Amino acid sequence: MMSASRRTSIRSYHIRTFGCQMNVHDSEHVAGLCEQMGYEWTGSADEADLLIFNTCCVRQGAEDRLWGNLASLAHAEGARGLVAVCGCVAESRGVEILARFPEVGLVFGMEALGRLPQLIERSLVARVCDTGEVEEAEIDALPARRENTLRARVPVSHGCDNNCAYCVVPLVRGGERSRPASDIVEEVGALARAGVVEIELLGQNVNSYGGDLDEKVSFAEILGRVAGVPGIRRVKFETSHPRDLGREVLVAMSECGPLCEYLHLPVQSGSDRVLKAMNRGYDAGYYKETAALARQIVPGIKITTDIIVGFPGEDREDFERTLDLVRTVEFDAAYMFMYSPREGTPAWLLEDDVPVAEKKRRLAELSRLQGKITVNSLEKMSGARVEVLVEGLGRDPGQVVGRTRGNQVVVLDGSEAPLESLVTARVVSAGRHSLKGRVYEVLLEGGRQGTRRE
Ligand code: SAH
Ligand code: SF4
Repeated sequence: MMSASRRTSIRSYHIRTFGCQMNVHDSEHVAGLCEQMGYEWTGSADEADLLIFNTCCVRQGAEDRLWGNLASLAHAEGARGLVAVCGCVAESRGVEILARFPEVGLVFGMEALGRLPQLIERSLVARVCDTGEVEEAEIDALPARRENTLRARVPVSHGCDNNCAYCVVPLVRGGERSRPASDIVEEVGALARAGVVEIELLGQNVNSYGGDLDEKVSFAEILGRVAGVPGIRRVKFETSHPRDLGREVLVAMSECGPLCEYLHLPVQSGSDRVLKAMNRGYDAGYYKETAALARQIVPGIKITTDIIVGFPGEDREDFERTLDLVRTVEFDAAYMFMYSPREGTPAWLLEDDVPVAEKKRRLAELSRLQGKITVNSLEKMSGARVEVLVEGLGRDPGQVVGRTRGNQVVVLDGSEAPLESLVTARVVSAGRHSLKGRVYEVLLEGGRQGTRRE
């Protein structure tokens, strides 16, 4: 049954994004197309004529949140606009979403993004599912609506060629496709001319960039070329794979001013046995050496990581090794997850033998340990002079938040630091997850320099 009261014309849209930075970036393209079609952004999901869910299926929890959101639409009162589902769950579930949720009128994969205007037209008449194929380059060229005029996300590659046993990403996003170096550098050049000063390069494994291209360009070279674009002051990138992170990337980071002192280097586990079962291609010793090398070559570098607890077969001793590694490396922050079996992955065939209660205990123990280390890392910044790119409003009225070059969150007084500005500040105190700063100087303001793009 299709919602009888569905609106037939679209004036406003809202996007709810789940998942990784790549999804956030994909949503910028979806928003760019919506704006091109003349739709206006609304902050209210309930009032939007077009409500789009950009979805994530990397863990069951992320998928469940989508199902919860869709189920609650069924109970919502009043006229409901067109509901669309795109992204990873759209890729993996396709028409099943239409079958389960009558409120959904359109399901599309990112490859179908270029056809979005036609798909929306068609789905106002009948329900549509399109998860077809199109060249990646065409998606990168689509318009984007970025949330901040000073910073932009730029993919260097799409998909992933690794085969980490737990991971569904290669299944839904396909194998690795690197963008030609010239496309990346041209895009960054255009962004810089429009006033962007910070670039975040994205890829599931940025360090293997270029392996599939005829023109052999390494990721370190890309970093150098992007950092050399006039006007670009800060370059960050994620995600680095420990096995593929070469010394030349670290050297580039130490030599090249705009390259920020920040490395996201997911370790996943500190146990060699588990790392092997995960098919990660390195052991704990190698990881520790790599992290130590990064700290040696790039002074002041902040290193963050991802860790999974409760992978099949992980026993107490394996988990202790993860705790050991965390104590040794002293990550500046970590994202920690309970293992979630994903259909179609190699680990799906293994028995998910760590009970949920035990996974929760391990996650809590690990979070407690990392929490203390994060606080230490933040406290070490007390009194430091930092450069902050202000990204948005803070939790309390009058506050804004931004990030340092090391990617630490800094809360500032909004009367001192305008939204979308680059400032220098002194760190006055450290909290559990963020720093508090006092502004010295506003270096740049985005919106007011006429850089705001519609
Ligand atoms: N390409 C990146 C990101 C992958 S997904 C990388 O290689 O790190 C982001 C994180 O989600 C992963 O690093 C991993 O820690 C976590 N993750 C992925 N699949 C998972 C699963 N099945 N269960 C729990 N956590 C998972
Ligand atoms: Fe998944 Fe591993 Fe690829 Fe990251 S490197 S996306 S964890 S398969």
